[in-house]
Amino acid sequence: MRFLITAGPTREPMDPVRYISNRSSGKMGYAIAEAALDAGHDVVLISGPVNLAPPRNTRFISAGTSDEMFKAVHRHARESDICVLCAAVADYKPAKVSPAKIKKRGDRMSLELIATCDILESLGQQRDRPFLLVGFAAETDQIEKNAWGKLRRKNCDIIVANDARIAMETDENELRILFRDGETKKISRAPKTFLARELVKIFSNLQQKRLTKKM
Ligand code: C5P
Repeated sequence: MRFLITAGPTREPMDPVRYISNRSSGKMGYAIAEAALDAGHDVVLISGPVNLAPPRNTRFISAGTSDEMFKAVHRHARESDICVLCAAVADYKPAKVSPAKIKKRGDRMSLELIATCDILESLGQQRDRPFLLVGFAAETDQIEKNAWGKLRRKNCDIIVANDARIAMETDENELRILFRDGETKKISRAPKTFLARELVKIFSNLQQKRLTKKM
C-alpha cells in the first residue's frame, strides 16, 4: 500500500531570523515510515525540521512551515491509500512576517497570531476520499475525551491518542487508538519502533478491509 506520513514540528517565521515552533522530535512519524517500509509498503514522508536521517527508500519531502506542509500533503494525498498525519503542526502563526529583523523596543512586545490551516481537517472534509485518514492527538489532560472530539471534528477514521508529557522528545510512548465505529485499543508503554510496527499492521488491515468491501 502507499503511505503518506507527516512528521516533526513546523516552524512559523516572524522575521528572517526567528520562528515559533514546538518540541516534536519527529521520532514517532519516522518510526512509522520505517515500519511501513519494512512491511513492504511505499512511503511518502513529509517532514518538518528534525534531527533524524530520512529512512532510505522513502520519497522524502521537507516542509518548513504549516503552509508548505499543507501544499505537500494535498499534492500527494489522493495517490495514497493511507494518510498518517503525525506532525505537530503549529496551531497559530504570526499574522505578519516582518521582512527585516524585528528590533528590540521597550520592555514588552506582543505578537499577533492567526490560526494556521488544519491539514488533517482539510483532508477529513473531502467527501469521497479514497484513503484511510489517521490523525494523532497529543494531550496533557482528558486524553481520551479530547481525542474523541478530534476524531469527530476532523472526520478521521482513526485517532491515535497519547500523553504529550510521555511522547515529546522521547523514544517511548503509550497509545490509545480510537476508531470511527467507537472501538478503542490500548497499547501500553513501549519503544516507538515497536508501536510503529503495531500501528502499520492496524492501518493496513483496516484499509485492506475497506477496499475489499468496496469491490
Ligand atoms: O488539534 P490538534 O493540533 O491537537 O490535532 C492534532 C492532529 O491534527 C494531528 O494529527 C496533526 O498532525 C493534525 N494537525 C494538522 N494541521 C494543523 C494542526 C494539527 O494536520 N494545523
